[in-house]
Amino acid sequence: MRLSSLLPKQVLKRITALPPPNPALGTDTLGWRWEENKRFSTRSAYRVLCPRVLENPHSSWRIIWALQVLQRIRVFMWLVMREVLLTNVERTRRHLSPSGICRLCNREDEDVLHVLRGCQRPRSVWLSLLPPSVFPMFMSLPLKEWVLANIIPHGSCSRGDPEWPIRFVVLCWLLWKRRCGLLLDVGYVDRSDLVAHGLKLAVEFTVGMKGAGVSHDLGTVVAPKWTCPNPGWVKINADGAVDSREGDAAAGGVIRDDGGHCSHVPGAPIGSETFVESLLKAVAALLHNLSDL
Ligand SMILES: [Zn+2]
Repeated sequence: MRLSSLLPKQVLKRITALPPPNPALGTDTLGWRWEENKRFSTRSAYRVLCPRVLENPHSSWRIIWALQVLQRIRVFMWLVMREVLLTNVERTRRHLSPSGICRLCNREDEDVLHVLRGCQRPRSVWLSLLPPSVFPMFMSLPLKEWVLANIIPHGSCSRGDPEWPIRFVVLCWLLWKRRCGLLLDVGYVDRSDLVAHGLKLAVEFTVGMKGAGVSHDLGTVVAPKWTCPNPGWVKINADGAVDSREGDAAAGGVIRDDGGHCSHVPGAPIGSETFVESLLKAVAALLHNLSDL
């Protein structure tokens, strides 16, 4: 049977144009056509599917990506912009809840803007931080315009304050965490110093990201990289964590020599400690292990 009776002419032409397998050219394998090395990458797939988003240097996602905060906060802000946070309105839309009403104030439907701006606590947070001349506009902008006006350094709400975009996204994130804690976590303790806590975190992120050498210029990401110590030296990296409610602490770390070879202390619970104490215990355990190197 001839293929011409089964396939359209343009398909037959493409098949005819394909070179047959040739041992001199290597093994014939499948490859991803949108990357030069023929390997699949999420970036190239996204570029094929959404070319305009990547081409536009001012797209909202690029602006969010340029913020010097934790990745989880950037992803959170992306969910905000996409209006897919699981608020009661969104849960109702997905048939997961019979009502979209806010269960904290019982006054309005709980959509993204209500959680982050309209409910009683968010409103008081922003009222304490914004000048009276800006507050009415801040409270009236539609969601996407509202976010952009706050995360662009010269946006109408950030007013040229270079610190404001970080403060804004950190406080939005904390307000969402608070909402989820109050509604879903029976042991959640609502902290009265949310604003002070948010401002402190914002400073820590700014200083920490700069100290780690992380640069998120638009379109360019330079990831922090571990470097070997000088010859004859070892480098210790340790970390610890504390559950602020239960007080349980755990810590661990690694020691690496100038060749990058490492010995490590596995993460282990070390009782009830503060964060600094857990970190110091990890460092002490690592120093104790130095004799094994
Ligand atoms: Zn409410």
